Amino acid sequence: MSAIGNIPAPVNEPILSYAPGTPERDALQSTIASMGAEVAEIPVVVNGTDHHVGEAKGVFSPQRHQHRLANLHGATPALLGEAIDGAVRAQREWSEWRFEDRAAVFLKAAELLAGPWRQRLNAATLLGQGKTPHQAEIDSACELIDFLRFNVHYAERLLHEQPMSSRNAWNRLDHRPLEGFVYAVTPFNFTAIGGNLPTAPALLGNVVLWKPSHTAALSNWLFHELLQEAGLPPGVIQFVPGNSVEVTEALLASPHFAGLHFTGSTAVFRSLWRTSAEHLDRYRAYPRIVGETGGKDFILAHPSADVAAFTTALLRGAYEYQGQKCSAASRCYVPRSLWPEVRDRMAAGIAEMQVGDPADFSVFVGAVIDERAWTKLDAVLAEARADSGVEIVAGGTSDRSEGWFIAPTFARVDDPHHRMMREEFFGPILTAYVYEDDQWADVLRLVDTTAEYALTGAVFAQDRAAVVEADRALRHAAGNYYVNDKCTGAVVGQQPFGGGRASGTNDKAGSILNLYRWISPRTVKEVGDPPTDWRYPYLG
Ligand code: NAD
Repeated sequence: MSAIGNIPAPVNEPILSYAPGTPERDALQSTIASMGAEVAEIPVVVNGTDHHVGEAKGVFSPQRHQHRLANLHGATPALLGEAIDGAVRAQREWSEWRFEDRAAVFLKAAELLAGPWRQRLNAATLLGQGKTPHQAEIDSACELIDFLRFNVHYAERLLHEQPMSSRNAWNRLDHRPLEGFVYAVTPFNFTAIGGNLPTAPALLGNVVLWKPSHTAALSNWLFHELLQEAGLPPGVIQFVPGNSVEVTEALLASPHFAGLHFTGSTAVFRSLWRTSAEHLDRYRAYPRIVGETGGKDFILAHPSADVAAFTTALLRGAYEYQGQKCSAASRCYVPRSLWPEVRDRMAAGIAEMQVGDPADFSVFVGAVIDERAWTKLDAVLAEARADSGVEIVAGGTSDRSEGWFIAPTFARVDDPHHRMMREEFFGPILTAYVYEDDQWADVLRLVDTTAEYALTGAVFAQDRAAVVEADRALRHAAGNYYVNDKCTGAVVGQQPFGGGRASGTNDKAGSILNLYRWISPRTVKEVGDPPTDWRYPYLG
């Protein structure tokens, strides 16, 4: 075909409601029942072949920790070697496909996910990662569909980015992929991030080795299956679950390692960066290191704030998905004059939230992801209960009898530098600090300097001067900043996502900025009528 095709304009995928009587509700419920009754065997997928190797490890449901959903096989060193070789081989062909052909694979994947695969991915995310129907829908359906469609749109724009030409010189940028493979390491908490980290580089002609999180393996593997159905050639995205330290050690030791696309905790990202730096001499090129990591996200109220809007943002921002969003509100600042009303509204809201198995559609808060998370959060609560400087307004309890449940907890601390205001716990725990109404400038400084992170943050105020002052004072405190809205729920194409400081390299997933990291442009200058005399005229 001789044509430069126009890519379809992307639109955000509409969110289905799952209200009683809707077809999506019935479809999701029956998929949860059938998927929950099976134990999937999740392979390592190398060069298009499933490998059921190594000792399989159980994948369990957070809300019912005795419920085995899958057995997950882990990549062996030999298989990882085959995966690297296969990826390098696959890149020759894949990177020379026309952009439209690569784009078509991912656009088809978006359609498959929007249609026949939607409830499989949602059910796997609900069962395996503990999301409610709404949280699963906005993640494993809508956000992942958006990533696929918008990345194609942004990649097309990027390819159109071309230098000027002059008389007798035609200049072009050849947007080459990186030479070697990209290592995608993905977190448990968003199926969409699991899908985006390998597909964004692949769209630009890269090949990727994808190590999913153990606890998200079911949904992530289904998405890998979907990609194959959409026409992704073998070897382009290799699915290599396994022991994260061993897989990482093997891949970062390869001279073909060309880039890291990571989302997860700050400590793990730093360790991967360090290891790649130690191996720098053996790489063929300087690797691209992209990582989005932790947060200690804030919501700040000015005395002029609308209290109902502020507390709604706190309740949704802190407790949806059990506070396990990197963007979740985990510290808030309340002026003394508003505290009594904030306290009462929070206690009432939390009392109404149903905690339990999200397969019951009346549940708002599910279980945290696994025993490790539960143990950490349980210890934080025990310490808070014993601390005279902490007032527990609501929650503060835990229950591990059936699932990994932590009650949505709202606490107030006397010390604004208390560990509960600084550390990321990654659970449904929100801590407040009450400040004096006339100390607005001081509280802005406090918000900016308390934690090492700078991911998301929100300010509630009706006084415009306060909004302006906060905007200035908090310019570097958050990569995603909200005015009179909660600090979670970024939408692809609308609020490009990522943070600075210890929160990551801020490469804004789901935007053109991220895609720039996965190309290594070649500049081509072609001259029609080259000079044939080396002497310049000034030489006389
Ligand atoms: P995690 O760091 O424990 O795991 C992330 C990935 O790294 C997983 O695939 C895991 O298997 C792997 N991993 C773990 N230890 C490793 C090691 N020693 N060597 C190599 N790989 C290793 O994070 P998580 O619990 O899956 O996710 C929660 C964290 O992710 C939170 O800190 C959260 O803030 C962050 N997060 C950030 C964003 C963002 O966009 N900034 C988005 C989602 C999650």
